[in-house]
Amino acid sequence: MVGADLIDKYFNLDELQSKQFEALGALYKDWNDKINVISRKDIDNLYIKHVLHSLSIAMFTEFQNGADILDLGTGGGFPGVPMAIMFPEVNFTLIDGTKKKLTVVDSVCESLRIENIKTKHVRAEDLKMTFDFVITRAVAPCEKLFYWSKKLISKQQQHALPNGIIALKGGDLRTELKALPKGIFYEEQNISDFFEEDFFEEKQIIYIQT
Ligand code: SAH
Repeated sequence: MVGADLIDKYFNLDELQSKQFEALGALYKDWNDKINVISRKDIDNLYIKHVLHSLSIAMFTEFQNGADILDLGTGGGFPGVPMAIMFPEVNFTLIDGTKKKLTVVDSVCESLRIENIKTKHVRAEDLKMTFDFVITRAVAPCEKLFYWSKKLISKQQQHALPNGIIALKGGDLRTELKALPKGIFYEEQNISDFFEEDFFEEKQIIYIQT
């Protein structure tokens, strides 16, 4: 398995962060034997396909201390868990409509003493809170994410990048981007500009202003 040193290659980590990233591999492997949090064929590539992929958001933008970030449809904790390790002073709320995988997230947070994550078993449509940004991976097409997130994103701006959605996406996005309401500003960023591993060749970040 490619290990946590992959994260060191791209980010300056302090001792606690290094330890937390290092421990993630074994923790998820253990949990995956009990609950299928990550597809079985991907677990050996956890650091590339899940941890580093999640952290492409940290290459795209920084979050300020005290910011509130929502991971919409976090599943087993991606991108929320790696991002919370990377930004320990930022508040992360990780939601999912399915409870089972959230118990894994809670347990991972407890084991690693990650204190800036709250999990909530709720669908995005029913959540009544606001955030600076929504981050998300592999949940829904952009237009759905946009309609769900509109009421979840605060009008108060505290970052250079205006509040909005930062979605990890792959493949041909033309149809879903066309389906966004007219006049909405969005930007596409190739993750291969940040990371050289082949896995990122067709992977993108879509940033949508709300
Ligand atoms: N983001 C994770 C999981 C992706 S699977 C990862 O990339 O590994 C998609 C997840 O989104 C599922 O766990 C599903 O329960 C959740 N989901 C889908 N629609 C949702 C909604 N409207 N509100 C909350 N969670 C949702």
